[in-house]
Amino acid sequence: MACANWLHSSAIPHAVLPFFYHRSNLLSSNFRRLHRFTSTTRFMSSRSSHQAAAAHAQAKRGFSVKEDEVASPADLYFEAPLNIVEYPDPILRAKNKRIDTFDENLKKLVDEMFNVMYRTDGIGLSAPQVGVNVQLMVFNPVGVRGEGEEIVLVNPRVNKYSKKAVLFNEGCLSFPGIYADVMRPESVKIDAQDISGERFAVDLAELPARVFQHEFDHLQGILFFDRMSEEVLDGIWTELQALEKKYEDKTGLQSPERIDTRQRRKAAAGFGKSRLQTEASLKSSGFE
Ligand SMILES: [Zn+2]
Repeated sequence: MACANWLHSSAIPHAVLPFFYHRSNLLSSNFRRLHRFTSTTRFMSSRSSHQAAAAHAQAKRGFSVKEDEVASPADLYFEAPLNIVEYPDPILRAKNKRIDTFDENLKKLVDEMFNVMYRTDGIGLSAPQVGVNVQLMVFNPVGVRGEGEEIVLVNPRVNKYSKKAVLFNEGCLSFPGIYADVMRPESVKIDAQDISGERFAVDLAELPARVFQHEFDHLQGILFFDRMSEEVLDGIWTELQALEKKYEDKTGLQSPERIDTRQRRKAAAGFGKSRLQTEASLKSSGFE
């Protein structure tokens, strides 16, 4: 996830950020302290509640994780320095395998991911974004080496999303220069393994919850524009097309996906109608 825009638009006090801990036994007291701060996040209005329900429903796509295929040493192979994979490279849509080997190679990969994250002014990075299709993410909500806390999550899972959703301006290192609003649940309960393979559970809110969900989406092959409203998407349409052209010029290959085809496909499939039906059923079940 890209950094600059967070700092400009979110205006979340830096003082909040050190209170994010990745150990559940440290969390309870500090989590209460985190909640004492007033977020400047733009909370949803009642007008956007339908969109929130849709965001919630979309978020739940990653909710139940089946037992994934385990990554082989070849899947975990990388060469330093790592480079950021940009949209529309198909690596970003490929399946990401589960990690069950917690060795020196994994530690080196994590180190290199932090290196490239700081170098590119990021605050979060998933392994597929550096061309390694495994269930691994790193982040530091401060985005500065030596400040905040470096978080490593291996094989993360979401156990619960908050009903409340919030709109927030996001950037993504795989979409250089593009920033737009995305609706997501405000908080999440997750569990994951650490760099040694030890599993732990934690509740995330505010900026850490936002960064986690963005990176968790990457691990499911979901990109942030997949979650944008049609109105928001209209605003970055030409920039997405420019990235598609850049990919074609660079590789000599046809772009594996196109934002304009996506729109036509949706219209042809009656996307708008099915989305409304989904929202209605969510509302009637008290999901909001
Ligand atoms: Zn991203």
